[in-house]
Amino acid sequence: DLWQGIDFSRSKAEARVDGSTGVKFCDVAGIDEAVEELQELVRYLKNPELFDKMGIKPPHGVLLEGPPGCGKTLVAKAIAGEAGVPFYQMAGSEFVEVLVGVGSARIRDLFKRAKVNKPSVIFIDEIDALATRRQGIFKESSDQLYNAATQERETTLNQLLIELDGFDTGKGVIFLAATNRKDLLDPALLRPGRFDRKIRIRPPGAKGRLDILKIHASKVKMSDSVDLSSYAQNLPGWTGAKLAQLVQEAALVAVRKRHNSILQSDMDDAVDRLTVGPKRVGIELGYQGQCRRATTEVGVALTSHLLRRHENAIVECCDRISIVPRGQTLSQLVFHRLDDEAYMFEREPQLLHRLQVLLGGRAAEEVIYGRDTSKASVDYLASASWLARKILTIWNLENPMVIHGEPPPWRKSARFVGPRLDFEGSLYDDYNLIEPPLNFKLDDEVAERTEELIRKMYGKTVSLLRSHHAALLKAIKVLLNQKEISGEELDFILNNYPPQTPVRVLE
Ligand code: ADP
Repeated sequence: DLWQGIDFSRSKAEARVDGSTGVKFCDVAGIDEAVEELQELVRYLKNPELFDKMGIKPPHGVLLEGPPGCGKTLVAKAIAGEAGVPFYQMAGSEFVEVLVGVGSARIRDLFKRAKVNKPSVIFIDEIDALATRRQGIFKESSDQLYNAATQERETTLNQLLIELDGFDTGKGVIFLAATNRKDLLDPALLRPGRFDRKIRIRPPGAKGRLDILKIHASKVKMSDSVDLSSYAQNLPGWTGAKLAQLVQEAALVAVRKRHNSILQSDMDDAVDRLTVGPKRVGIELGYQGQCRRATTEVGVALTSHLLRRHENAIVECCDRISIVPRGQTLSQLVFHRLDDEAYMFEREPQLLHRLQVLLGGRAAEEVIYGRDTSKASVDYLASASWLARKILTIWNLENPMVIHGEPPPWRKSARFVGPRLDFEGSLYDDYNLIEPPLNFKLDDEVAERTEELIRKMYGKTVSLLRSHHAALLKAIKVLLNQKEISGEELDFILNNYPPQTPVRVLE
């Protein structure tokens, strides 16, 4: 017999005894509410008899729900680590086997071992793999293997339900499970008494991201000069796992460059690697190409700095520009994000300033090259016309140009959709969320007005940059020399080359 001697029932879960998960709550950040709630489980695990004596019903099971990489596994380990009890971990997919009876035997074995070593914690990751919604009546399919697998999964799920219901006899064992697809779970599993608590583990906000970065930075040699808060602010949507990866990546870069500790430049390099990809070798732009690229990027960046200086504009300023090709891009401009609130209550002047920033690339080309403009700034121009159109239509800010007539029914709610609360994605992404409700009769008029608005703002931007011709040239030269320039360097240049400085001082 082929299978002889192989014990399929033994679960692969390894007991790690005496808090050797080594994880504590201080290793977890950004999900304070969840941690607060989970503290009670630790209290229980440390002294199950006390709960018993007081007549408190022991907690049954807890479902941790949320997107991947936000710390579900980590926090489960921390519970065991804090209480100093064994931790039995398995993934839902490990129970799914074609062989009849293997999955349920593994469940039985897992619970048995946890009970023998109680108090203890059982953790099943990706429980959706094992506990997807059952089909009701078992539907026969022509595929026999499929039938067998479905039936086997149901047997396994039933076994899990039996174990959970029999939990009272096995006091002192906490059952934790995690999923990012709660909608797929079989309702039987969610019935009261099985999971008596469902806790949502959310992606961290800016403060959470900073705390997570601090935790991971403390495990490596991070230079004190690295400003972690700016990364926390500028990486919206990044999960704990991604931030941990960032610190690891930065450490690797630092080692490669033989730095004694991780420097700001190593962190920047790591961010670029994780976002746009590693540096590309062999596709260096020619000098002319680099000049064009540098001109448009510096134009955009300088416009934002100038608007801030001279018009108190609330726009993102530039953290750094790089003209080193990476991944799919030839250059990158990193903006420093504003506080989330600043995006939620944007007013007309703010939107128009932003429009000017987007037009800064083409405007700089005009200042430097005259009418001989190139395609280097087309991406910015495309964003600019999209933004201008929205200013005129759905936001109706510039000059109430109400699009009369009903928006199509599926877009009715669009008028009430504000900017998103969590700002994922890149800087201007939130403008692409909803399309303006189109009314084709008005479309020509909108196009005309869009053009008019763009021309007006473009003209302003050209004169702004023209009066800072010297600073613009200097910044482009520095960028071409160094391949990178920081926001502080741009400010330094602006301080040294005030408006109307004659260009010849550069020669
Ligand atoms: P999930 O189980 O939600 O998919 P994990 O707990 O496996 O996520 O996270 C993977 C790794 O990412 C963790 O081991 C940890 O290094 C890091 N991490 C994730 N979330 C956090 C967090 N909230 N605080 C600190 N580190 C985190």
